[in-house]
Amino acid sequence: MKTINTLINDVEKVLGGESELSGSNLDAAIEKAGDEFKTLLRNRILNSYGDSTALRLSAIGRSCNRLHWFNAKGYPTPDLLPATKMKFLFGDISELLMIFLARVAGHTVEREQEEVEVEGIKGHIDCVIDGVLVDIKTASPYSFAKFKDGTLQDNDSFGYIGQLKAYSEATGIKDRYNWVLNKVNGAQCLYKHPDDVPSATDRVVELKKVTANALAPDRGYKDIPDGKSGNRKLCVECSYCSYKEHCWEGLRTFIYSTGPRFLTKVENVPKVLEVFDEYKEV
Ligand code: SF4
Repeated sequence: MKTINTLINDVEKVLGGESELSGSNLDAAIEKAGDEFKTLLRNRILNSYGDSTALRLSAIGRSCNRLHWFNAKGYPTPDLLPATKMKFLFGDISELLMIFLARVAGHTVEREQEEVEVEGIKGHIDCVIDGVLVDIKTASPYSFAKFKDGTLQDNDSFGYIGQLKAYSEATGIKDRYNWVLNKVNGAQCLYKHPDDVPSATDRVVELKKVTANALAPDRGYKDIPDGKSGNRKLCVECSYCSYKEHCWEGLRTFIYSTGPRFLTKVENVPKVLEVFDEYKEV
């Protein structure tokens, strides 16, 4: 019986030509992966990546209550750019590929996309591998380093720790991991989530109260100085928030070589392109 500890080594052996499965078992795994890929394409091409105002377990790790309030009240969000949809599709396809490789490497993969629930709030786990919860991510090199170096808990901008804690409480499976693929160089790592994490059930109860209020809660983050320019900009968490236009009145977007920058206060107009509403999604 394999354990999660050998997952990456075993997958790398498969990539080197040493498969644990052979003959009809290997064929069955390939057929299953093919069917899953077809289902994914049908779902994503026909249904796309829609927005939902329902609170989801995948989002409860995001710490800004105001974001959840905007979502619950149905504030509109910008249409996703084709490039963003491509990024999501790439992530979904990578997940199928990694699950396929885990199977071919002789690991037990179960409960894929199983619906789970905490206090009536629903979510879907990625899968259980060798008896532990696994959530699969594709990451930029910057984000990958946080998982590989074990520093995610210090800088968890997207709430992954809270997300997996919710899945853990919903399933009763204590051990939980992110299995992460660096989308630039193909490296993999496993990040084991810490035990000492606040209760997801308490967080769900809190968010239900917050989102029932008529008034929006305060912002979860402050804007920060943009170097020595005298301007102020959004932090990373706000920059990726779909509700930033509702949250920060008069926000202006400038395109730098490193990507868009969202300025809340402009004392010196940047000498780069400024863009307007329809381009503001990142
Ligand atoms: S822009 Fe920032 S402060 Fe405002 S809702 Fe989004 S995450 Fe919260």
